[in-house]
Amino acid sequence: MSKTKKFKTESQKLLHLMTHSIYTQKEIFLRELISNSSDAIDKRHYVSLTDEKVDSDTYEIWIEPNKEERTLTISDNGIGFTEEELIENLGTIAQSGSKQFLEKLEKEEVDIIGQFGVGFYSAFMVSDKVEVYTKSPYSKTGYKWSSNGESSYVIDEFDKNDVGTKIVLYLHEDDKENEEDYSTYLETYTIRSLVKKYSDYVRYPINIMVENGDDKESKLEKETLNQMIPIWKRQKSDIKDEEMNDFYKHQFGDYEEPLKVIHTKVEGLLTYTALLFIPKKPAYDFYSEKYEKGLQLYSKGVFIQDKNKDLIPDHFKFIKGLVDSADLSLNISRELLQQNRQVKMIASHLEKKIKSELENMLKNEREKYVEFYEAYKNNLKYGVYDQFGIHKETLKDLIMFKTSQSDDYITFKEYIDRKPESQKAIYYATGKSKQSILNLPQMDVMKENGSEVLLFTDEIDEFMIQILNNYDEIPFKSIQQGEADFVDDTKKEDLKTKEKEFKDVLKAIKKTLKDKVKDVKLTARLKDSPVCLVSGEGLSLEMEKILKSMPNQQEIKAERILEINPDHDLFKAIQSVYEKDSSKIDEYASLLYHQALLIEGLPIEDPTEFSNNLVKLMIDSSK
Ligand code: ADP
Repeated sequence: MSKTKKFKTESQKLLHLMTHSIYTQKEIFLRELISNSSDAIDKRHYVSLTDEKVDSDTYEIWIEPNKEERTLTISDNGIGFTEEELIENLGTIAQSGSKQFLEKLEKEEVDIIGQFGVGFYSAFMVSDKVEVYTKSPYSKTGYKWSSNGESSYVIDEFDKNDVGTKIVLYLHEDDKENEEDYSTYLETYTIRSLVKKYSDYVRYPINIMVENGDDKESKLEKETLNQMIPIWKRQKSDIKDEEMNDFYKHQFGDYEEPLKVIHTKVEGLLTYTALLFIPKKPAYDFYSEKYEKGLQLYSKGVFIQDKNKDLIPDHFKFIKGLVDSADLSLNISRELLQQNRQVKMIASHLEKKIKSELENMLKNEREKYVEFYEAYKNNLKYGVYDQFGIHKETLKDLIMFKTSQSDDYITFKEYIDRKPESQKAIYYATGKSKQSILNLPQMDVMKENGSEVLLFTDEIDEFMIQILNNYDEIPFKSIQQGEADFVDDTKKEDLKTKEKEFKDVLKAIKKTLKDKVKDVKLTARLKDSPVCLVSGEGLSLEMEKILKSMPNQQEIKAERILEINPDHDLFKAIQSVYEKDSSKIDEYASLLYHQALLIEGLPIEDPTEFSNNLVKLMIDSSK
């Protein structure tokens, strides 16, 4: 009984695009179908290792041109489709790659088709009708799917005993006017050259029957069109950049070239080849729970596993790629792989290799490193913080910050190398942006002294620094927290004298604010600003904000210390008010505190009180 179903909207869009494509490189459809076949064989092979219901086979991909019928057939003995899979995989676009493609397409134009793995639907660039005959090891019967690429497709049950998929393309009529010659895809020489061009490294034989011999005695013989040497097995120097980039895009579903390729062969106690890529941009779900890290695992060119998590640590989880090791047994199950010593050793090699490649990039290709860093800095910083810092040694030299004095990123090492000898700490300040940090009252003295301050603008920064604690025994010091020990000794002395002198007014302010702040002090860290709020050591005000924004947090509060600039006119004004009428000090203290909160970007605790005080003050001053 046949069922007619509608394509999902997104599929319809993509299909419409394919059927009406004026894209010149329509030939890529063959690459797409062969690559699907190869993936399907990988899957069947993998399942056959772990599920006894699924047997393995001698894996092959066949291409059959039929000039009389004007059809081109591509078949494989891969995993096939169940009925649900036909609906799920050919009726909708599940692939994120294709979705990205569609989004991008709205903006740019059709010539980006070739950059994407547009997949199965590309068959409609060359065909009026496509039929899929398929049998999965998980369904009793086979199925036939067919569509002319418009709004719907039809599924029928179909007698097929052997597991696998056969795709029949009914090629378009040639279109002389537009120089579209579809019948060329029925010629052995075209097929041969397309396989060579796009699919040579496919690890299963791609076969075609060819007539051999002379006119009298010609016979049909099988010809295998691809060399089957996987790209990572080839000499590095023989691989063109373009080939490598194509391989990456295709294998890992990206539409952009990788930022960096790491191709390494190791021989000795442990023998393996690794081909690793850093994508230019994090995957769309990279910073979500859904993202799955891992490398593909092969043994002697035969696929074992798609995403082996044990091969790559979380802090480098952006790495895509594969490992091929002859030391791994093919029949190894997933559980055994996890405890496998070889896998652990490879993972540890790879971590070192990635680290050293990144450090080299930082040293020799700064611009590229910055591009990398901007894409993945949060992951690296999180890596420092994670698990109480067990990876901090690996990662600390990969971290960079912009500073109050430079829009270029610098490393901790670079900061230390250029700070004055006498400076005993690495200064940092936290805020939403460079500008908001430069505007901080606490920056006054830094500007005056010409001290460089690292700009912490990502939420993770302070958490990371608490774990890191110091770099080469030089401690990190927030200019918004704790003692202002960076001011010079004469200033400190001066401050002590003033604190004595203004003891009473400070006490009075403190009394008013007793539930709100831990202390009220005079400070030497301010120059132009009258007041600021700093926190004690430990939890900072910025961290308080972040923690408060998380779900299920108890009341967490950083210690607040109100610091007042004794040289500012405002303080002098307060003093004289206090001397004239000490009862007014409450309003002034409250205003001062609220003002400090505002500068810190913290919410005003009692807006009505704040506003009433301000109103009063304005009226008073007009009298
Ligand atoms: P992609 O290959 O990028 O996932 P496609 O549109 O090419 O997207 O294919 C959609 C899905 O259909 C594939 O992910 C795969 O699950 C399935 N598929 C495609 N071709 C085959 C095939 N020859 N055998 C089995 N499954 C296939």
